[in-house]
Amino acid sequence: MTSPIQLYEVCLRDGLQNESVVLPTDFKVAIAERLVQAGFRDIEVTSFVRPRWIPQLADAAEVVRRLPRVEGVRYWALVPNMIGLERALECDIHHVATFLSASETHNRKNVNRTIKESLAGLKKVIASAHGEGLGIRSYISTAFGCPFEGAIDPGRVLAIAIELLEAGADRIALGDTTGMGHPEKVRAMLSTLVEGGIELERIALHFHDTRGTAVVNSYAAWQLGARQFDGSISGLGGCPYAPGAAGNACTQDLVHLFERLGGAQEVPGGHAPLTGIDLELLGSIGMDLEAAIGRPLSGRYHEFWRGHLEREAKTA
Ligand code: ZN
Repeated sequence: MTSPIQLYEVCLRDGLQNESVVLPTDFKVAIAERLVQAGFRDIEVTSFVRPRWIPQLADAAEVVRRLPRVEGVRYWALVPNMIGLERALECDIHHVATFLSASETHNRKNVNRTIKESLAGLKKVIASAHGEGLGIRSYISTAFGCPFEGAIDPGRVLAIAIELLEAGADRIALGDTTGMGHPEKVRAMLSTLVEGGIELERIALHFHDTRGTAVVNSYAAWQLGARQFDGSISGLGGCPYAPGAAGNACTQDLVHLFERLGGAQEVPGGHAPLTGIDLELLGSIGMDLEAAIGRPLSGRYHEFWRGHLEREAKTA
């Protein structure tokens, strides 16, 4: 029997932080409500970075305060440092995510620190969050390749992952920040981590679709036993410090893939068995995001859904 997929939705954070449009808090809260309704249990809702750095997420505290509290739903916020963690704690959020890069150059451009300096700071953040009883996931960006340095040694990712887990992180999220991964890299990475003693249950995959490989990479990771995947509705997002990094893995594409792999022939409105997600509702959330952002979004299932609605409108 195939075990369920845990999907982690990032459109409200990773997605919006890379869009120039600043969306109203009301709209964000409404999207979060509908994501919960669609069946998500893990939603990254915002980031407690300095509001001046990312004005799109300057309303972090207000968004968190207004989220619907639903049994079994985990809301996550990105925290860059101790100040971010303190702001998150003030808002009573119970799950936080930290980040650093596996590439020295990308890490320096992103947070102006060496990897060693970042790790030292994050260990304090993680220990403190752990002490407060928070759930912690730690992103390792550019894990599958760096736009400045090229290939990244999986051994380096393993060493960073071990330090983060030993500091108290519950799980590692491997970020393919500029979509440089491919299935063989995914295989090499996961076997290095597993052979290095990290259980698959502690690894999430955060693919970007910059070069069209997010779905095939997810499939490769699934075949190897990974079950936790990050997605962004309609592929919203990218990375402001990585040139050419457009588009997270489109959540609808992942839901569709995993439902078919799980043996579902159709996803007719009801919640699908492997992911527990209502694909049709995601379709309409994607259309609303597209309207709010004001440019066409690019996820494949999203485009399919847009075409479907246009055909329906014609026949009506
Ligand atoms: Zn991302």
